[in-house]
Amino acid sequence: MKQTITLLLILCISYAQAQNADSVTIRKFYNEALANGKSYEWLRHLTKQVGPRLSGSTGAQKAVDWTKQLMEQEGFDRVFLQDVMVPHWVRGAKEVAYIQNGKQKTTVPIAALGGSVATAPKGVEAGVIEVTSFPELRALGADKVKGKIVFYNRPMDPTKINTFEAYGGAVDQRANGATEAAKLGAVGAIVRSMNPRHDDYPHVGGMRYGTGVPLIPTAAISTNGADLLSKMLKENPNLTFYFKQNCETLPDAKSYNVIGEIKGSEKPDEIIVVGGHLDSWDLAEGAQDDGAGCMQSIEVLRLFKALGIKPKRTLRAVMFMNEENGLRGGVQYADLAKKNNEKHMAAVESDAGGFTPRGFGIVGTPEQRAKVMPWKPLLAPYGLLEIGAGGGGADIGPLAQSGTVLFGFRPDSQRYFDYHHTAVDNFEVVSQRELELGAASMAALIYLLDQYGL
Ligand SMILES: [Zn+2]
Repeated sequence: MKQTITLLLILCISYAQAQNADSVTIRKFYNEALANGKSYEWLRHLTKQVGPRLSGSTGAQKAVDWTKQLMEQEGFDRVFLQDVMVPHWVRGAKEVAYIQNGKQKTTVPIAALGGSVATAPKGVEAGVIEVTSFPELRALGADKVKGKIVFYNRPMDPTKINTFEAYGGAVDQRANGATEAAKLGAVGAIVRSMNPRHDDYPHVGGMRYGTGVPLIPTAAISTNGADLLSKMLKENPNLTFYFKQNCETLPDAKSYNVIGEIKGSEKPDEIIVVGGHLDSWDLAEGAQDDGAGCMQSIEVLRLFKALGIKPKRTLRAVMFMNEENGLRGGVQYADLAKKNNEKHMAAVESDAGGFTPRGFGIVGTPEQRAKVMPWKPLLAPYGLLEIGAGGGGADIGPLAQSGTVLFGFRPDSQRYFDYHHTAVDNFEVVSQRELELGAASMAALIYLLDQYGL
């Protein structure tokens, strides 16, 4: 009995010592990121010098060249590119839209959704059918919808505490609205912006056409514009809506994932990925989405080097290409990992903005999640309290097929959709401190993953 107690005591003490050593190291990551962090100045360069980075654009290519050069300058062990063919959609001249109510013409802000076709050169004008769901649309039937513009006006649910949940509850309108409307003979689809605020910025984003269905033009309208259109429709159901857009899908373009690596000292064949997506929508600088996540990922590797911590496993910062309108980079990365027999133990993605860290969502088996739970006390002092089952990330998603455990960095979600896919997602909306805290939080998790495995 006495022996057992002594053994337990020794175990407890060594566990406490390990926890203490880990807590000291984690503190160092935060100190370095907050006192000497580079992610913010890098983000300034990416947003101000490179700018918008939609797949296939010159901005995207510039971002590839610059992040490669940056990781080389930081002295990572290996920096390399992976070829990937990406969709190449261009917006063309700015869109025009107005509500025609008798003699009164009211201009409203719209923006073509990514992947949409253009209108005819003279634009399209038609009566409007307002709906808040696909079942409501189908119930109206082709008789009422044919020849009309369908106006999807279901808002993000403001009562959801996590705004990603509200987004998930509304985004079907953007993704499939045009197809569902076209099935019933509509000539266009206008979608209320995925935005919890009332303002004048259209929020763009990807959409898909179904096979065998006419391709009709589709655009996002600002939330204020949507409210106005809805109000005017109630007063005059016979008003018409006009819009003109000039977008075009060009042939696929060659692009790249950009990867920087620190070789593992003990298990170099086990890889831990940390990444974000390098492409962004075209209306702004792509600061929160996802310049922040990319710069944080490179900063994670820099932090290891700056602190002289040699990881046991190989760490990779991955700048994925084409998350926004194709996910080709994420798919290509996972395909190559499989082809090259690479073992990816874990992947961490930052694609929810550079806001105050709250935790990590984990995609893995209950046993794998259970291994992470003892780390909670080490992360709690930094506000990382939301650690549990949840989303990983779009780019790292395809790795799950090979058994990689996915971690989605979860910052505070309250302001993300104020900027998401709009003309205001610029450098100025990112807080230096919040960005740096995020980078340190990701480094802390990766340090623990590297130390203890899964
Ligand atoms: Zn994103």
